Amino acid sequence: MCGNRSCSNSSIRRLESNTSILKHLISKIIATGPISVAEYMRESLTNPVSGYYVKNDMLGAGGDFITSPELSQIFGELLGVWCVSEWMAAGKSSVFQLVELGPGRGSLASDILRVFSQLKAVLGETDISVHLVEVSPKLSQLQAKCLTGDQTWTCNDDQLVYRSGTTFTGLPINWYHRIEDVPRGFSVFLAHEFFDALPIHKFQRTENGWREVMVDIDPESPEKLRFVVSHRPTLASSMLIQKDENRQHVEVCPEGAVIVQKLANRIADDGGAALIVDYGHDGTKTDTFRVSAM
Ligand code: SAH
Repeated sequence: MCGNRSCSNSSIRRLESNTSILKHLISKIIATGPISVAEYMRESLTNPVSGYYVKNDMLGAGGDFITSPELSQIFGELLGVWCVSEWMAAGKSSVFQLVELGPGRGSLASDILRVFSQLKAVLGETDISVHLVEVSPKLSQLQAKCLTGDQTWTCNDDQLVYRSGTTFTGLPINWYHRIEDVPRGFSVFLAHEFFDALPIHKFQRTENGWREVMVDIDPESPEKLRFVVSHRPTLASSMLIQKDENRQHVEVCPEGAVIVQKLANRIADDGGAALIVDYGHDGTKTDTFRVSAM
């Protein structure tokens, strides 16, 4: 985030001080052997009990990192105008879903909804609804406060929607754990600094070919973790490296590819647009995963 993939140093330091996650990872590695960096990230960031995103509000000036929607409302307002312009260019569908992946504190959606209110004359009687895909119960509460004043209700575990309400601007709003749970229909999808938070696999070129970098217990201090290079190919190292790859280290995010494919299929079938924003390099860097010490 903020230029680095996945975890800032301060967020990793917070992970390290999270002893319940560390104990959980250590017992997992004792039981099944070294885990992939992707699994390490998934557990550390989104474990339902003590994952970094699940437990904390890490955003904003007093948090671990700050993002564009938190810096200035102009960012969200410009994207709001872009959403309306895409809807117009696509033929002014009578149904319009605004779908945001990983909405943080809800600031971006809030700025966009203000623009929608101001452009009521353009949007007319369009059936607009808001759909947020958020893994973190803690952040979903902050989003609910920002977008509805906390006028939301939580839903039963067996439902795809886990929180529901009405925005300050009078639109229905729902929360989901996964993109596939969002109803089908013309949608504008937004993902700001979301893909960067998804788990990556790390690979290293060796004299025996590509090998996956794994996370193992440090034999010298068994309460710590360390990176190791797998001796044998893993499923990921056999499947995820492009034939013409010429770098020495590569990071691949298969979960990101799956989500992009889902967005593309939905837009092809139902109409809409997607805007994915992340900050980084143009494919030239090789090792962007930040861990100060494990
Ligand atoms: N878009 C916001 C927040 C970016 S931080 C902003 O720019 O300020 C990443 C966001 O994605 C957080 O809301 C986090 O809880 C959410 N997130 C991370 N992994 C997720 C996952 N696997 N599924 C859904 N949401 C996820």
